[in-house]
Amino acid sequence: MHDPLDDSSDARVRPQSVTVLGATGSIGTSTLDVLARHPDRYRIHALTACSRREALRDQCLAHRPRLAVLAHEMDAQWLRDELHAAGLDTEVRAGDTALVEVAEASEVDVVMAAIVGAAGLLPTLAAVQAGKRVLLANKEALVMSGALFMDAVQRHGAVLLPIDSEHNAIYQCLPTEHRGGLARVGVRQLLLTASGGPFLGWSSDALTHVTPEQACAHPNWSMGRKISVDSASLMNKGLELIEACWLFDARPEQIQVVVHPQSVIHSMVAYDDGSVIAQLGNPDMRTPIAYGLAWPERIAAGVEALDLFQVARLDFQSPDETAFPCLRLARQAMQSGGTAPAVLNAANEVAVEAFLNGRLGFKGIAELVEGVLDSTPVQTASELEVILQEDRQARTRAERFLERYC
Ligand code: NAD
Ligand code: MG
Repeated sequence: MHDPLDDSSDARVRPQSVTVLGATGSIGTSTLDVLARHPDRYRIHALTACSRREALRDQCLAHRPRLAVLAHEMDAQWLRDELHAAGLDTEVRAGDTALVEVAEASEVDVVMAAIVGAAGLLPTLAAVQAGKRVLLANKEALVMSGALFMDAVQRHGAVLLPIDSEHNAIYQCLPTEHRGGLARVGVRQLLLTASGGPFLGWSSDALTHVTPEQACAHPNWSMGRKISVDSASLMNKGLELIEACWLFDARPEQIQVVVHPQSVIHSMVAYDDGSVIAQLGNPDMRTPIAYGLAWPERIAAGVEALDLFQVARLDFQSPDETAFPCLRLARQAMQSGGTAPAVLNAANEVAVEAFLNGRLGFKGIAELVEGVLDSTPVQTASELEVILQEDRQARTRAERFLERYC
């Protein structure tokens, strides 16, 4: 490992080359904010986006990447013309192959995986298989392909750093070498904190008519719409429970979800000797992003110092799995193993989209996910093709559910 105190080391001499997958999103823009604070340490290889071409153009003008990728050729041609007119020599490409190529390119050191949903799986896996430092925000990729993903990390020597604030906190609270099981390093439990989202304390009945706007108005974090709805339904915590199982080699029973409305403690590790170690900070994703970029060093992230007097108090309570069944469904999917988490994730993506488009009520999200899980036999998830096929079939089942019930 490179010595952080040795100024002659490679990391100091040569700036690290970074690809940001999902650059125009909430995590992507926070990543660019941190990178721009350290031009001596990082340069940008590629920025990617789905369809927000104006936003990607502005990012290209500000950050001057070597490559930019959009989903569709028509948008790519528009961006090519815009950048050419502005005198930039950024190469613009389109499509899934280009996404994979900018993730695995030999000149890339670091890949920020910040595409939302299953769409991020292939480029994120490509970065892992190319042995990159992978900053994992795209939790859905790991939820879908856990065993295969973690196996690829080992086999290809990738450095996987969790960006999800809870997992980043746990990573910071664990000893550096924690592979081989939590018991080996004296860990009793991982305490995964949850804000509770905008509907904390609401009864199941009160949730019947909530709107996408209400669901997306998170009290502490400003995030993309999909993860905002997941936070409101507690599916986000369910996906994070699965994510934690894979990242830290834990069983679902070793993870306790703790509702902590202030979102100041980002998660904790409880040890056999009675110690509980927590990581605290303002709710700002630039902290875990900066941690992932610089690890094992620390760099400025533009985040204000935590003012404990202003925080004043920290509250804790247990989650309400009756009003918010998604957490239970995710735990059960992890316990079922195999392709069940991929099916859960696919059904949830369809359900959230339908909720955001006004096709499905909020409580329908859990009903749809449960319906799809119940009607899908679990397969072994050791091959990518099987996972992708289960993902597709779960989406078809979810669509059928929508047609039948909505
Ligand atoms: P977002 O919706 O704000 O941004 C998503 C990005 O992915 C955009 O750049 C978009 O262009 C791109 N994208 C979407 N669909 C795509 C497709 N089909 N092909 C290629 N690119 C596509 O989402 P976000 O809030 O930044 O979240 C990104 C990921 O990080 C999610 O997996 C989320 O769970 C995770 N995460 C986010 C936060 C947060 O604070 N926002 C915190 C923890 C984890
Ligand atoms: Mg999180």
